[in-house]
Amino acid sequence: MAQSVELPSRLAILPFRNKVLLPGAIIRIRCTSPSSVKLVEQELWQREEKGLIGILPVRDTAETTTAIGPVVSQGVGSDSGERSSRVHVGASDSHSLDAKNQQENIHWHNRGVAARALHLSRGVEKPSGRVTYIVILEGLCRFSVQELSTRGTYYTARISPLEMTKAEMEQVEQDPDFMTLSRQFKAAATELISVLEQKQKTGGKTKVLLETVPVHKLADIFVASFEISFEEQLSMLDSVDLKVRLSKATELVDSHLQSIRVAEKITQKVEGQLSKSQKEYLLRQQMRAIKEELGDNDDDEDDVAALERKMQSAGLPSNIWKHAQRELRMLKKMQPLQPGYNSSRVYLELLADLPWQKASEEHELDLKAAKQHLDSDHYGLVKVKQRIIEYLAVRKLKPDARGPVLCFVGPPGVGKTSLASSIAAALGRKFVRISLGGVKDEADIRGHRRTYIGSMPGRLIEGLKRVAVCNPVMLLDEIDKTGSDVRGDPASALLEVLDPEQNKTFNDHYLNVPFDLSKVVFVATANRLQPVPPPLLDRMEVIELPGYTPEEKLKIAMRHLIPRVLEQHGLSSDFLQIPEAMVKLVIQRYTREAGVRNLERNLAALARAAAVRVAEQEQTVPLSKDVHQLASPLLENRLAEGGEVEMEIIPMAVNNHEISNEFRIASPLVVDEAILEKVLGPPRFDDREAAERVSTPGVSVGLVWTAFGGEVQFVEATAMVGKGEMHLTGQLGDVIKESAQIALTWVKTRAMDLKLAASEGINLLEGRDIHIHFPAGAVPKDGPSAGVTLVTALVSLFSQKRVRADTAMTGEMTLRGLVLPVGGAKDKILAAHRCGIKRVILPERNLKDLVEVPATVLGNLEILLAKRMEDVLEHAFEGGCPWRQHSKL
Ligand code: ADP
Repeated sequence: MAQSVELPSRLAILPFRNKVLLPGAIIRIRCTSPSSVKLVEQELWQREEKGLIGILPVRDTAETTTAIGPVVSQGVGSDSGERSSRVHVGASDSHSLDAKNQQENIHWHNRGVAARALHLSRGVEKPSGRVTYIVILEGLCRFSVQELSTRGTYYTARISPLEMTKAEMEQVEQDPDFMTLSRQFKAAATELISVLEQKQKTGGKTKVLLETVPVHKLADIFVASFEISFEEQLSMLDSVDLKVRLSKATELVDSHLQSIRVAEKITQKVEGQLSKSQKEYLLRQQMRAIKEELGDNDDDEDDVAALERKMQSAGLPSNIWKHAQRELRMLKKMQPLQPGYNSSRVYLELLADLPWQKASEEHELDLKAAKQHLDSDHYGLVKVKQRIIEYLAVRKLKPDARGPVLCFVGPPGVGKTSLASSIAAALGRKFVRISLGGVKDEADIRGHRRTYIGSMPGRLIEGLKRVAVCNPVMLLDEIDKTGSDVRGDPASALLEVLDPEQNKTFNDHYLNVPFDLSKVVFVATANRLQPVPPPLLDRMEVIELPGYTPEEKLKIAMRHLIPRVLEQHGLSSDFLQIPEAMVKLVIQRYTREAGVRNLERNLAALARAAAVRVAEQEQTVPLSKDVHQLASPLLENRLAEGGEVEMEIIPMAVNNHEISNEFRIASPLVVDEAILEKVLGPPRFDDREAAERVSTPGVSVGLVWTAFGGEVQFVEATAMVGKGEMHLTGQLGDVIKESAQIALTWVKTRAMDLKLAASEGINLLEGRDIHIHFPAGAVPKDGPSAGVTLVTALVSLFSQKRVRADTAMTGEMTLRGLVLPVGGAKDKILAAHRCGIKRVILPERNLKDLVEVPATVLGNLEILLAKRMEDVLEHAFEGGCPWRQHSKL
């Protein structure tokens, strides 16, 4: 423990940056800077009797507090030799050392503490070889600096002691104020020690201090152990007067005690019985309260408030508003990271987004304009358009009329979707398309209940949210493509949607509140009617679009598709011209479809080729004057010079179409056969196909019906050595397999009549197998209408006579040879026409279907009606059927 010490008049000074060493404190320092190393070396290390050094606090230049006073330019650290410059004490308490050309200013305190080294150790830093010292210092007593000077690289100071003499001490100890103060300090110190001992469960070592060390020294020792600010440390150092020192120390001990107690209280609180989530909740509530107090609102808070505002303006019906409020209250109580918060929020957002009341304004329906609109968008389709106008007229007379739902049925690309959107345009309503293709889960229509993770509303509600009005024209696309499985039956959900009685309160499982669908105008589309469940079909009025004849396609292409395609590609007829003859070729050679979708695609391919040509144009292109205001600054600059502009910059903001109209290209691209082949490749179809394929006996041409409309289907039969078995290939369904069986049986029983066998009782399959194949092998096929085609192929095989290449047939056959009518007759006839077939054999009872076939098609076809199988054979073979005999059965 520090005793009273004899101080020399001059001390080597070790500066302490922003730190104070108080008397009685022990500190371990590491000296690395050259000046401090030098000081330690010379004043402590190399002396046998370890001397004293002075520790003087210095303040960083960054901290500018006037209390410390004037500036001293630091010479510390400069190894500039043994120059000794003197600094005199100024008028103020502080000293100033002015070393010119020194860059850093440092503030020296005018009081310090003399210190003794308790321990010294020397080390060498390996890479640099620098010497460092570790010194343990003990603060002894205060001194004041009279004069500061440098000795080599470190400072020395002329000092005078500040501690009292023994006599002075004794006098002060008699002072009643001092006595009170020292009692107070001791009380506080005792309390602090007992609190600390309780906490750390240490023995009473510190208590001994209280009894043995004089109180003014105790004050320094206690304060030295606290973590207090530099300012407080300095003020403690400056407390030379014992009474001041004691009162300051008491204050600091008290505040230290306080902080220990507060920390203890917090710990107790935290260690209380709160569960983790309760604790979190409590803290968040506090945080919220604090933020409110500060007017610093949380983002989430804002979001919820915004959501509430949105819901208020969403026009929710009163019962639903109540439900929404309940949900909102729950949301407000939740924390953003809590499970369920997000789903609740998303749900409320949906409620707020749905068009409960918002409807697009319905203007007075102008039937004439609607008709013009339909006509301008669609070529032909006279009956269909007429039916649509009737539908619109009824709506005009009785706006809330619950007429049947229109359902457009036909192969792809015949204009079903575009007709529906024309209806929307004519009614002045928004249009939304809901794709039902492949929907097998009822929840796709009706939504998943919110109890499921990842639940969402059904497609209808989703569509309404997207379109944001409650009275759009909603297209239920591909209604025939819904299927049912274990996950429910989407068709039954659709029944509810399309039933005017029920759709007022449509219940989406996710929404869980009724939504009124009665203002929605529903239109449906389907490729085929067969898969649509009868109750659903019952709610709809079917309008069939059978497909187009090549002539119609040509007109559609010239009037609608080409202008649209050019526009879509930023072109005009100045760039690309597709002559009618070439469009005809595209129709004949590159498309074989009922609709015009592939035709449109092929035209688009030509347009793309033209676009590439235009974009690659290297020659300069004259620019019309109007483009001035459209051009980018760069273009403008060049125009200002009056020159021509290269077509290299197309301003982003300007519509391509506008620009392309401004450019005149030297010569437009006129499509010819060579370009067609170059762009679209070699022709994909030609009329010689049928002739080539039926060039050998055993092949016949059938007509089938698929989702893509009617199609030509070849049937190939061949015989080989075998055991009289029949092999069938071509991904056939059960019905078609049975048809083959029936066909073979019929041919076998009629072999004699058909002159396939010389005499009765001869087995046609004696020693041979039959193989029947339906190309294309990868496409699944089924249905009864291949009956007559199968028989024809077999007869051709056995008789070794070729079937007529220009004749195609369709019809179901009974075991006795009667030809039964088939479905899709119209589509099949159109398909035959498309494929260049000239004669079609039809069951007699399909005669009624011919009314629907366009006259132009019928004009090009010979329709041959068949009642019995023999009639079919009569028409199918060249020169009739020479073996013709009436059935004896
Ligand atoms: P779908 O819905 O029947 O599959 P889309 O309505 O999508 O067919 O029609 C395909 C394309 O053919 C559309 O660009 C459409 O405008 C066009 N189209 C079809 N039929 C006609 C027509 N009669 N007149 C003009 N364009 C037509």
